[in-house]
Amino acid sequence: MELYEEKRIKPEQLKKRLGKPITLYERSETSLGECTLALVRAGREKYLVATGSGPVFDELEGTTEGSCKICPTNHANRLVLNSYLPYTKPQSNANKRTSIGLGDRLGEATCGHIRALQGTSVFPIFAQQSVRELTLTGRTFEDVIDKAAYAVFQEGYTGGYGADGDHLKKEADIEKALEAGVTMITLDSSDVIDNTVFTLGTHEVEAKYEQLDATLCKSYEDRYRDQVFTVSDQSYTLDAEHLKRDILIYHRALDFIQAIYEKYIAGSAVSLDFEVSIDETDTPTDAKSHLFIALELKRRKVVVSTLAPRFIGEFQKGIDYRGDLALFEQDLLAHTAIAKQFGYRLSVHSGSDKFSIFPILQKTIKGSFHIKTAGTNWLEAMRLVALKDPDLYRRMHRHALSRFADARAFYHVTTDISAIEALDATQDAELVHYLEDDNARQLLHITYGFLLEDTDATGRKLFKDEFFSLLAIEEQLYADLLAKHIGKHLHLLGFAS
Ligand SMILES: [Zn+2]
Repeated sequence: MELYEEKRIKPEQLKKRLGKPITLYERSETSLGECTLALVRAGREKYLVATGSGPVFDELEGTTEGSCKICPTNHANRLVLNSYLPYTKPQSNANKRTSIGLGDRLGEATCGHIRALQGTSVFPIFAQQSVRELTLTGRTFEDVIDKAAYAVFQEGYTGGYGADGDHLKKEADIEKALEAGVTMITLDSSDVIDNTVFTLGTHEVEAKYEQLDATLCKSYEDRYRDQVFTVSDQSYTLDAEHLKRDILIYHRALDFIQAIYEKYIAGSAVSLDFEVSIDETDTPTDAKSHLFIALELKRRKVVVSTLAPRFIGEFQKGIDYRGDLALFEQDLLAHTAIAKQFGYRLSVHSGSDKFSIFPILQKTIKGSFHIKTAGTNWLEAMRLVALKDPDLYRRMHRHALSRFADARAFYHVTTDISAIEALDATQDAELVHYLEDDNARQLLHITYGFLLEDTDATGRKLFKDEFFSLLAIEEQLYADLLAKHIGKHLHLLGFAS
């Protein structure tokens, strides 16, 4: 009885020590022999609380009073948590479960994502950020994984999750991501893909090809020229012209992918998922080019978990798919067959809100793919602002309009901001309807970096403090909105929840 008392979390005592009302996350309460751990919130901050004694108690940094230690939810303590509770540590998707990337730019979305996933077997990538996202939000890979790990602990979620260094292009970034503990590298080779070749005519391709190293050309031609390959019931002939184009477009990218794979992935002490993304091109990846890349990766002994081609149609941020659904289905079928034959899964980028293609994905890929979402989680936070703080929403919306032209430079979107209903003509109760309007969605989607990081003349962040305070107060509502919205994605993808 005495020991039990010693280990019990005492909310009254915590409230007194932290000087504010606290919320104890009951699902986080975990007994580790002589020590009980739990997560609490006091105002905007979350703390790890340890009561009792023993090695985990000693290893955590924090302030001790009697048998209770209050610990900051920082990086060092996250590592301690990881070593005692392995489910809080990101891991690779070793069983090749269907997976979903849930990029959380704010570090506040994981609890809602966990609820959305309930009752499904989908493997989540709770931590997924690109370098661009980190720069625009002033975050680091460590911070992103820390937030996901503490959320997993908060919810008592033991199903495993991954961490993706998304769209990485440089070795230095890959090293940083791996050091922080990512379990997946998405290699973006767009800097070494020659996009200009897509628009060249036959003679121009010929002229450009002549300039390549002759030995290199011969080795490719010996392997593939006019060869016929059968994938599923489809046969592909790698005819000379197509092959020359593919060599010109992808040969440097293939060397780059191989070099990165050999240096960082193949000999890694921890299991990693390796994704190759070739989706950042203006032209869709045709099946023959995908086949050429798959053949080369195999020859070079590069083992990929997932590959993201650029699919037919438009995958704009934050809105539904635009394009011919029948053509998409055909395209997807061809890519799926190639991926299957070569032993990897397809990855669909910019997957947020692409509701009209989800049933096709379900039917065609049959449960083994990766899909990435990110900005939609930020938009759900903006929905929360529209619902709960009309004044803040109006100021943010107005600022987004003023920054639209700057943001647009980074994205391919067809947003028509003149078509967005004027703020003055919109009642407070109707502000949330902006989140149903494609133009307004894209406006808010692409300006997130400015909305979070822009400052006034004195250097104070315009909205960041107010915004995060609201998210802290409305934590449950944000989780509910995400559970519903990501739940809709999973449902249409064929996962009951
Ligand atoms: Zn992408």
